[in-house]
Amino acid sequence: MNKLELFIDGEFVASRGDGIEVTDPATQEVICEVPFATADEVDRAVQGAKETFRAWREVPTPERARLLFAYQDLLKKHQDDIARDLCRDTGKTWEDARGEVWRGIEVVEHACSIASLMMGETVENVARGIDTYSLVQPIGVCAGITPFNFPAMVPLWMYPLAIACGNTFILKPSEQDPTVPNRLMALLKEAGAPDGLVQVIHGGREQVDALLTRPDIRAVSFVGSAPVAKAVYAKAAANGKRVQALAGAKNHLVVMPDADKEQAIASLVGATCGAAGQRCMAISAAVLVGGAADWLPDLAAAMAAVRPGPWDDEGAGYGPQITRAARQRILDAIESGKAEGADCLLDGSECGVPGYPKGNWVGPTLFANVTRDMSIYAQEIFGPVLVTSTVATLDDAIDLVNANPFGNGVSIFTSSGGAARRFQREIEVGQVGINIPIPVPLPFFSFTGWKDSFFGDQHAYGKQAVRFYTETKTVTARWFDEAPVYGPNMTIRLK
Ligand code: NAD
Repeated sequence: MNKLELFIDGEFVASRGDGIEVTDPATQEVICEVPFATADEVDRAVQGAKETFRAWREVPTPERARLLFAYQDLLKKHQDDIARDLCRDTGKTWEDARGEVWRGIEVVEHACSIASLMMGETVENVARGIDTYSLVQPIGVCAGITPFNFPAMVPLWMYPLAIACGNTFILKPSEQDPTVPNRLMALLKEAGAPDGLVQVIHGGREQVDALLTRPDIRAVSFVGSAPVAKAVYAKAAANGKRVQALAGAKNHLVVMPDADKEQAIASLVGATCGAAGQRCMAISAAVLVGGAADWLPDLAAAMAAVRPGPWDDEGAGYGPQITRAARQRILDAIESGKAEGADCLLDGSECGVPGYPKGNWVGPTLFANVTRDMSIYAQEIFGPVLVTSTVATLDDAIDLVNANPFGNGVSIFTSSGGAARRFQREIEVGQVGINIPIPVPLPFFSFTGWKDSFFGDQHAYGKQAVRFYTETKTVTARWFDEAPVYGPNMTIRLK
């Protein structure tokens, strides 16, 4: 069987670690074996990244930007190849897979403007003859740990900006769909990256622990589920590292009775079922205000019209869940919702797809009359399951959302500017959509989840990521020598 390689010091190398099988989620066919890197291999990756850092930090900023320009060009040329791998590994639909690659390329494009992003500040004459200015410098070896649901985009949130800032990087991709990061590395090498600039070690918990404790690693970017994010944050911080840990979510969409009904329903269906609900910004809870509750039968009908299927089925709205275990976890959540007394208006537990009897399918599922204490409301289900609650007023909706511990994304659908403005001011969630169901900011902003959806200070990508991957040095300077006098051929003659 094809055993995936590690990428260390510019070469793909066989790992001596044991591995696990990676399977196609629509067929269960084995794609490859992913190795779990040994401690020696992790050490080699860290040592190589440390050595490369010494040279890379001296490379002029415009030259570093030029590598990123070449990289984004190659990523665009290979967008379809990467998307095809994503379809096989994750089961995403073709459009969804291409979209994921594009969202990653946008971060690389942004990283190309690193010279402007790393500018310091100056105040001349803070006292007579004294100037103060700040330098923005790289921090060293950084590490990234990424989840299964965006095996291209989330790594691309991290290392392009980290290396643009002058750092080196070690990536530990999800072991559930690990092939795409290797392809991303082959393209980075082709773009001209020096050996050791970005290293990839495959593995799971043990390899993550190694990265969190190795003293030479200065900063850790993590994206994954809330319990793991919290533990990773605590361990990395206890080991003296700078950490940003992006976590899970329960994203609400508030539907006001004055909303455009057709748009609101279409958005709810797309944002719940798209990518099989395996998005950290998926909508998984709808709050129907006043008369919007009457739209439930139409919402159920619209969700029932969506069906999962394999990536090349153009009629499929979304693909399979990533693993059998993930599918089973969702089926268990649906059962607990029924047992807790929520009304199951649409049940996707028995979903099958002709020709794909072994696929990890879950059909669209809709619950009504869900209360805060039910586990289907409290937990992130991470599947095509929408729970709905009915409230009387906008205030009630805001209270409900604010009481939820997660704060990744939220959306309101309304035709009232006043309602929308009050919502954006009072809602305690970091990314707000107004008549937009999935308000993921483009890379010149940052990805600003709040509360239990984020542990750390500086967020992913955008200006905040540049602060995360750099150190600011403030210089206060005074000179005692006289200004030199220039001769006619620009030689300096001291008086
Ligand atoms: P996960 O937490 O299971 O795994 C994420 C990474 O952590 C993987 O690389 C995995 O190998 C590693 N890991 C798993 N268990 C670990 C442990 N006990 N100790 C150390 N490392 C461990 O997450 P997942 O299932 O791959 O991804 C889905 C989750 O990620 C969802 O909760 C989703 O909301 C979240 N997510 C959040 C964002 C965001 O921006 N906030 C983006 C994408 C995904």
